[in-house]
Amino acid sequence: VRRVGIVGCGQLAQMMAQEGRPLGIAFSFLAEGGENTGCVDGLGTVVHAREDADVEALYRAMGSPEVITAEREQVSVDLLRALEKFCPVYPRPDAFEKTQHRLREKTAITAAGLPVAPFEPANNYDEICAAVEKLGYPAFIKSCENGYDGKNQWRVDSDEALAAIRDEVLEQQAEQEYVVEKGIKFSREVSLIGARTADGEVRTYPLAENDHYRGTLLVSKAPAPDADEALQRSAQEYLSTLLNAWDYVGVLAMECFVSEDGLLINELAPRVHNSGHWTLAGAETSQFENHIRAILGMPLGETHAGRPAVMINMLGVDKEPTQPNEGVWLYGKGLRPGRKMGHVILLDDTQEALAARIDDMLAELYGESRRPA
Ligand code: ATP
Ligand code: MG
Ligand code: MG
Repeated sequence: VRRVGIVGCGQLAQMMAQEGRPLGIAFSFLAEGGENTGCVDGLGTVVHAREDADVEALYRAMGSPEVITAEREQVSVDLLRALEKFCPVYPRPDAFEKTQHRLREKTAITAAGLPVAPFEPANNYDEICAAVEKLGYPAFIKSCENGYDGKNQWRVDSDEALAAIRDEVLEQQAEQEYVVEKGIKFSREVSLIGARTADGEVRTYPLAENDHYRGTLLVSKAPAPDADEALQRSAQEYLSTLLNAWDYVGVLAMECFVSEDGLLINELAPRVHNSGHWTLAGAETSQFENHIRAILGMPLGETHAGRPAVMINMLGVDKEPTQPNEGVWLYGKGLRPGRKMGHVILLDDTQEALAARIDDMLAELYGESRRPA
């Protein structure tokens, strides 16, 4: 049987395996640093990597997979490069190296000729202040590494707000690197997900529109309501440019701002992405299946979406909603406030019909406020 090894054991690994197993593919998972493995129970072998582990032994313990991938960007690039001696690692370690560090990521995007928000690097509080001075308010200060769901970043809109984060910044390690970004006035946030095989076949999904709450994705709609052809096309061009420039293999997700100055790339994720979960019920082939197909060199599946779709994240709630829906995915994780516990997908004939159902679903999940606690 064909075997895929996945670094990571969370819900993205879970859904890759759930979608890959019907294709007759076996999975194994590498848990790093005491990671909880509950999400992948019953889906394949789990191997625990110790700091001093022999990489060949790890590879054999994973059942000598024919290809290795990862479910998150914050994975040791050295480990991926060491594993590459035994089988291909897709996306390539280079793609992880670029995307796991915000400054390298922005540099790589601009090197490909694509637009991002104006930014300045900074290595300490004084440099952050100088960068904010240059870019103006509002500004976003983001640590280059270990940021996700809006963590390790601050939005500042005044000298007072900037002064207030001083201690927080100084508390972090001395070598911490930051990137300071100009705050973009956007009409909406969109994301595009695409897959590329080693042969260069590229397929992209319809653009999704994303609503965040406190830095975490809450709702993704696809196709993005009111997105015109031109917007979809320019997003497709951006993503294809990156996929080809990096000789990328697998699924790549691109988050963008729709601003007065057009589409700007916010960040990339070298993996399946939360804003693509709607594809599980709303597209002919899910992003998870297409990722597995891409890294195994299988022809990619059709990415067409039949009807308007929406994905609603279950943040800090794990009770299956009673309202009509086109699928509830529960990841089987321990309940914590704000934690991604699962998601629900709705499909309907029109965006209008969907809008009313989204509101009802948010009310059922989160109560009157329609927002997570
Ligand atoms: P993710 O969970 O998507 O990986 P993250 O923690 O990596 O998130 P970003 O995507 O960089 O963080 O930022 C989180 C959110 O903050 C964005 O989706 C956007 O709403 C807002 N934001 C970030 N940077 C800017 C900016 N330069 N201008 C305006 N809004 C921004
Ligand atoms: Mg991110
Ligand atoms: Mg983001």
